Amino acid sequence: MTAPQETRFCTNCATSLERISIDEDGGPKERLRCPACGWTHWNNPTPVLAAVIENDQGQVLLARNALWVEGMFGLITGFMEAGESPEEGICREVFEETGLRAMALRPMGAWEFLRMNQVLIAYHVRADGEVTLSPELVEYRWQSPAEVKCWPAGTGYALAQWVLEKGHQPRFDAFRPGQSPEPDPGKWPPRPWQADARFFDAPEL
Ligand SMILES: [Zn+2]
Repeated sequence: MTAPQETRFCTNCATSLERISIDEDGGPKERLRCPACGWTHWNNPTPVLAAVIENDQGQVLLARNALWVEGMFGLITGFMEAGESPEEGICREVFEETGLRAMALRPMGAWEFLRMNQVLIAYHVRADGEVTLSPELVEYRWQSPAEVKCWPAGTGYALAQWVLEKGHQPRFDAFRPGQSPEPDPGKWPPRPWQADARFFDAPEL
């Protein structure tokens, strides 16, 4: 995935956008808006679906994108398409990227990915079949919960949650060289009161 590109023109009338402040529900807000027709560039995050794919041996599938350096492995991810539900989208992505058929799935959570202006929606997917990678992916491996190294970013927290649910203590490492290996204390570990792991602290607004 490449970085999001800057929007400069009105998609409605092609006038150059300007930073214009308008009163919204939360008060005055400056956004890129069209001075001619009033169109607003909301810049909402793009939904990206991610899968913690588990096989019958209790291992998780990690894959390396063709654009990533050697040794960098991540979850299967893809953009949600217009006209599909998140559940349909993740099953489609799993099949397109790996050739595996999703048999059952459950939502794990949603995480922000601010640098890319994306929101990650992660699913735990039980899948069947033989792995056939799409050209986008060059390498894959199945790892047990004890072997897995998580990383301190959206998809890494979903993976850490899976490891924890499997009864292991997640270990974190940097995703890229030079990146901090430490998880964000606001996101990991889960709070002690979370005996029910589906609940978490409400964020401060
Ligand atoms: Zn316009």
